[in-house]
Amino acid sequence: MQGKLRLGIMGGTFDPIHMGHLIMAEAVRDEFGLDRVLFIPAAHPPHKKGRWDLADAGHRYRMTELAVRSNPCFEVSDMELHRREPSYSVVTIELLRETYGSDAEIYFITGADAINELFTWYHAQELLEKCSFIAANRQGSELDMEALRGHFGELADKRIHRLVAPAVEISSTDIRQRIRCGRSIKYRVPAAVEEYIAKEGLYREPMDEP
Ligand code: ATP
Ligand code: MG
Repeated sequence: MQGKLRLGIMGGTFDPIHMGHLIMAEAVRDEFGLDRVLFIPAAHPPHKKGRWDLADAGHRYRMTELAVRSNPCFEVSDMELHRREPSYSVVTIELLRETYGSDAEIYFITGADAINELFTWYHAQELLEKCSFIAANRQGSELDMEALRGHFGELADKRIHRLVAPAVEISSTDIRQRIRCGRSIKYRVPAAVEEYIAKEGLYREPMDEP
């Protein structure tokens, strides 16, 4: 019999998905021996409620699909897109355990900026009890283990792991800005995503004012 499934979860807005997400997910998969990485685009990110330029969930989902197509270990899930309430990770983990079994090892993959804010997440302590986190450094954000220990005590060391890899300085915010200014995004997103953005005319100008 095979061992337990080791599943990586990449949650995000993916607005749009970019090479930083893909490089980080693949580095974690390789370094931590994960069987699979599931990309889960968020429908209503609780922390991005007020953003007026958030692309339609369908677009973000299709771009994520295009981006992961060439990696047999990567998959996209629409499980958060159809949820009416905000996409809370504790709920997602419970649903994943129903699908993949209670003994699956689940690793949340995040950037250091996201994990440093873990204490603001809904039921963060409970989440740390249920799964592990792997954090990648990001330009401008170092993993702050001391602060995380302050919030979560020993559980922080037990559940939060660091990915040792060079930071990749790409963000969706920068990509959206580049598009708005007519600048190149080539090599910052997969070619298929670049084509999709051009074809659909995404991020060219503000849609509504806040
Ligand atoms: P935005 O600029 O709109 O916030 P983003 O580039 O931060 O977009 P998100 O969809 O917010 O992308 O991020 C999803 C997850 O991926 C988060 O955990 C974030 O920290 C991580 N992440 C995004 N870009 C990188 C990167 N270049 N290196 C490491 N982690 C990243
Ligand atoms: Mg972000």
